[in-house]
Parts: sequence; structure tokens; C-alpha cells
Amino acid sequence: MTKAMLPRRGALGLLTSLVAAIGLAGTATQVLAQDKGLIGIAMPTKSSARWIADGDNMVKAFKDKGYKADLQYAEDDIPNQLAQIENLITKKVKVLVIASIDGSALSSVLQKAAAANIKVVGYDRLIKGTKNIDYYVTFDNFQVGVMQGQSLIDKLGLAQGKGPFNIELFGGSPDDNNATFFYDGAMSVLKPYIDSGKLVVRSKQMGMAKVGTLRWDASAAQARMDNLLSAFYGKERLHAVLSPYDGMSIGILSSLKGAGYCSKSLPCPVVSGQDAEIPSVKSIIKGEQASTVFKDTRALATAAAGLVDDMLSGKQPAVNDTKTYNNGVKVVPSILLKPVSVDATNWKPVLVDGGYYKESQVR
Ligand code: BGC
Repeated sequence: MTKAMLPRRGALGLLTSLVAAIGLAGTATQVLAQDKGLIGIAMPTKSSARWIADGDNMVKAFKDKGYKADLQYAEDDIPNQLAQIENLITKKVKVLVIASIDGSALSSVLQKAAAANIKVVGYDRLIKGTKNIDYYVTFDNFQVGVMQGQSLIDKLGLAQGKGPFNIELFGGSPDDNNATFFYDGAMSVLKPYIDSGKLVVRSKQMGMAKVGTLRWDASAAQARMDNLLSAFYGKERLHAVLSPYDGMSIGILSSLKGAGYCSKSLPCPVVSGQDAEIPSVKSIIKGEQASTVFKDTRALATAAAGLVDDMLSGKQPAVNDTKTYNNGVKVVPSILLKPVSVDATNWKPVLVDGGYYKESQVR
């Protein structure tokens, strides 16, 4: 190989070509990984499959770009996540990619990151109240909520003039900025029907302060559904439930089943969801949960790794939103990916043909 044939990447390119030429591609990845440095990834919890997928997909995406990743899960414990981030700072990671538990609890640890010259990317959830966040990669969270609300409207036939129907509303964790976006997105399409009386919230519990569910806790959602059913639906039938996340939807459905719903005489109310987690996809196929919102964690992980790589190689990352995500201190430049609404009619093309699940996993 002459010098003129060498790729312009110089030493790294030479190394890759040589190693590939002698058939040691695995070793090449390792050498490249060491060369490009360590990325710290802080994820909220393993209790929901989506975050496990996010973590695994990110480790892979960073490896493909030549980085090593240190992946941490905090089991929804805020002090634990803070300690993990401090530890990643000590390990001198080049960038921290963080899906926060409480989006407002990270200001002082991120001050330490800034002092150590470590860049910070908010992953899926916005980090609030700090200037020390460089970028944010997420899905269009308002649109997720619109899809949740719209699926209820479609399945009830509200636009065709059907109704009135009874609905109850659930929100996500109030300390997660996404939860408000989901709720507001859903209400942007549901509210006109509530105002016209075509949707009735018998409990009158509306607004994130009343319907929020700390830590997106499925058993808390189940318990609240139990209470709503016994307090407001003795004789009345419930027709729809706005649920922001699949884990909660499964809890809500179990409460409903306990009260006799999802039977021949009393059909399941239409229940929304999010994340296309396996139990919910199974439930959709069975005709119980009505819908979910699929957010491809492979695409989000790839976007995060691409953004980090751009930052570290001095390129301007290509963001597509510079208005929406004001964290209280600054508007964080963001990459927003598109969510996909999934129900019994399209789970197969979206989730199986799209390679996210094998059919045997969801049947
Ligand atoms: C994510 C959702 C997820 C929820 C609960 C949110 O921040 O955007 O995808 O359902 O957290 O884990």
C-alpha cells in the first residue's frame, strides 16, 4: 500500500486498513475505542424495558463510532444517580449522556462536570435549571401526547359524533419534563371534547398536579384506578383512560379487570400507552390495551452517538429544534425524532417488520 492510497484520516485510517487487511477487525474496534475515549451514560432504571434497550443500543452505537461506554442504571433513586454521575466525572469521561430521574436535581453535579470540561447531553428527558447542558436528543414529546389522545378519540368514534363517553386521565412523573409535554399534547386534542361534554371526567381530576404519577409507578396507577372506579363508577361505565406509559397502562388494565371490565358483558375501556413494551404489545394483540406509542430506541441511541461524535470532532451537530426545550436557564438545542402510534392494525409492520421485535416475542 503506497502512502497516496491511505485514507485521509491518517494514523487511525492506516491502523484500520492494516488491521482489516489482516482480518482482525475485532481488535481494530478495540484499538479505535481506546483512541476515541470514554462516554458516560446514566440511565434512570432497569424496571422498564425501554431504558434497557436505550442503554444497550447506545453502548453499541458508541462502539460503532469508536468509543467505549460506561453504562449506569440508578433504579429510580436520585442520590444513586447523582453518585453515579460523580463517579463518571472521576473516570474522566469525555461526555455525559443522561436520562435523568428528576430533571431538576442535577445542577450541582453538572457544575462539577463543567469544571472538569465534560460536555453533557440530555437523553430523552430534559435536564432543567442549569446552563451546563449542551444538547438534548429526544422524540417530539408533545406529538407523543397528541398521538395518545388522538388514539382515544379515534377508537371512541368521537369525530364521527359518538358519545358522550366517560374518561379518566393519568399523567407521568411530575419531575420529568416529558410528562407535562405528553399531558399537554393529549389535552390539546381531548380538551375540545371535554369542553363540549362529549368526554366527561367524572372524578373531575384534571391537570398534572392532580393526575401526575410519581416515578411513573405502575402500582400507584393501579391503586388510583381502583379508587376512581370505586368512588365514581359504581353504576356508571368508564369508556376511556388516558395513560402516558405502558407500565402504567398494564397496572390500570389490571385494576379494570379486577372491577369486571375486559369481559364479554363489560368491554375494556380504550387505554393508551407509550414505549411499545412487550406486555403492552401482547395486550394490544389480545384486544385489551388500545394503543401505544413506539419510540425507536435504536434511532435515539444512534442520534445520541452521532451528536456526541460531532461535538468531539469539532463539528456542529445537526439539530432540528432550537425553540421548544427551555430548561429555565436556556433553550437547549435539540434533535427531535418522530414517534409512531401503534395499535392492533399496525403493530406487525412497525414492530416486527421493522426488526424491533421478533413475532415470537409478542405473540
Ligand atoms: C419517557 C417515556 C417513558 C417514561 C417512563 C419518559 O421520560 O420519554 O418513553 O414511558 O419516561 O419511563
